[in-house]
Amino acid sequence: MCGHRCSIQEGGYGRCRMYTCKNGEISERFPDLYLALWPGAIETIPFLHYTPGGRYLLLSTIGCNLSCEGCVSYVLAKNQDLLTDALIHAEPTDVLRMARDNACIGAVFCLNEPTVSLETVARVARELHAAGLSMGCASNGCMSEKALDVLLDHMDFITIGLKGLSDQAYQINGAPCNAEQVFQTLKTIHSRNIHLEVAAVCKTSDMEEIVTIAQRILEISADIPLLVMRFIPFHGADTALEPSAIAAEDLISACRKYLPFVYLFNTPSTRYLNTYCPNCNELLVERSFNGPMGARFSGRYAQVCPSCTSSIPIRGEWFSQFYQEPRFRGGYRTPVALDMVYSILKAVSISDEATMGMVLTKLLSNDYLEQLQTRLQTPKGYIEFLQVLQQWSGSLSFEPVIRFLSGRVQIIERYSNVPNKPRVLSVLSHPLLPSYPDKMENTLIALAGGDVLNYDLGYDEKSSERFTWDAFQKLKPDILVVSGPGHLTHQDFVDLCMREDLTAPAIEENNIFMVPGTHLSAGPSWILTLESIANYLHPDIFDFNLEYEKAVLLKTLPGLE
Ligand code: SF4
Repeated sequence: MCGHRCSIQEGGYGRCRMYTCKNGEISERFPDLYLALWPGAIETIPFLHYTPGGRYLLLSTIGCNLSCEGCVSYVLAKNQDLLTDALIHAEPTDVLRMARDNACIGAVFCLNEPTVSLETVARVARELHAAGLSMGCASNGCMSEKALDVLLDHMDFITIGLKGLSDQAYQINGAPCNAEQVFQTLKTIHSRNIHLEVAAVCKTSDMEEIVTIAQRILEISADIPLLVMRFIPFHGADTALEPSAIAAEDLISACRKYLPFVYLFNTPSTRYLNTYCPNCNELLVERSFNGPMGARFSGRYAQVCPSCTSSIPIRGEWFSQFYQEPRFRGGYRTPVALDMVYSILKAVSISDEATMGMVLTKLLSNDYLEQLQTRLQTPKGYIEFLQVLQQWSGSLSFEPVIRFLSGRVQIIERYSNVPNKPRVLSVLSHPLLPSYPDKMENTLIALAGGDVLNYDLGYDEKSSERFTWDAFQKLKPDILVVSGPGHLTHQDFVDLCMREDLTAPAIEENNIFMVPGTHLSAGPSWILTLESIANYLHPDIFDFNLEYEKAVLLKTLPGLE
């Protein structure tokens, strides 16, 4: 199926562990077995220029033919044998029924590589097409010509994720192909009039390459959107590779000089997810950040520019209402949840595959994912979550970390309930982007003795709105707490406040607390954030030695890499 050209012995597996040899015939190990089978908005996959706002059934199996550093789907792509018990059998007719039951206009194979489950993908596409529904996929483009032919015979829309421009970039990621072969694939897809979008990860080490990629895409067509994924160091990847939001936005501006439709992901504050008229720069489609690798269609749009009447190359019907998936569903949120639980199990030194597989299967199979986000929003919920993992795994190795977290939370609760609490506004990477009230950072600020202004503002995940200048000015926060992905420095944030012409006691008195990026990574290190906020808000009460605290926390997590 791909350039690895595995020679599979009877009963053995190929490199992706998804094909086997039975009676001399190569076949799929897990035909019609899915990990993902739930509805999601197309922007969470993501596609930005195809049926905006459309709801699709998201499908995934497990496994991949590549091994990319910092892969967002690491557990389901590379530790797939842990998840075989969690797979759900669905014949193509079942998939069609689920799509219809969930008011989906089609299905998209995403989260892992379709090449490793090609026959399953083709079977379901045939069923959907016969019923008038559409089918798309996200792929790395590293497949044999024959596999590509099969895929293209069945797809209406495709995103190809590039690994870079050099052979080395493909080699590092264990790819059975090189950049030129993938660019050839892009040309083939485009020549067959299948809707095509291209995704590329932007790391600090290869920012200029993204501009060249934009130029190379322009040689195929100016209508192809380029989706730039600001690198997030998932699964212990090097944090130095993560570009700042400002550097990434500058990069998108540079790319748009060549290619009109270049977008920036993984950056909460950005306006570079919007579509502007390439002719007169009028805002035509508004979108916002929606979790890793995802966007949210905000509903304000125009296919034809009202100012200059240029049209934009967006295909298919437009849907005015964005479908909001349950938490930890949609786009890449489920792989992120799996990765988080996998990391916690490893951190407390649980590494036997049977236990890990059992815990991950329980996580996926009993609606626990739907509750997980809520639990992760408070220290109490997080500790309860560890207790659930302890119960599922039957291991006592969670005890030290549970004891440490509970003990520190109790100390802070006991002393932080003071009468004069500072008025704190918490924002996500940008002064005009409020963090939603139910986020962990707000719970931590309240617990550390702050009066959280976010609780009464009415901004939530669905509204995905930014503050207006007036709304911010009225708040007059004493302290600003800044969290979110990206290496935004204190000075970067002050510069953003200046650029937006904002004033507040917090800005004038330089009371700006930057939450270290690694602290809110859904691991138990939120306790260090809580302690550092407590130190900052009430230095007269709290004086946690953070280096010491970190050392104690690490002692409770002996398996941490
Ligand atoms: S898809 Fe690639 S890695 Fe998997 S068995 Fe076929 S040739 Fe090997």
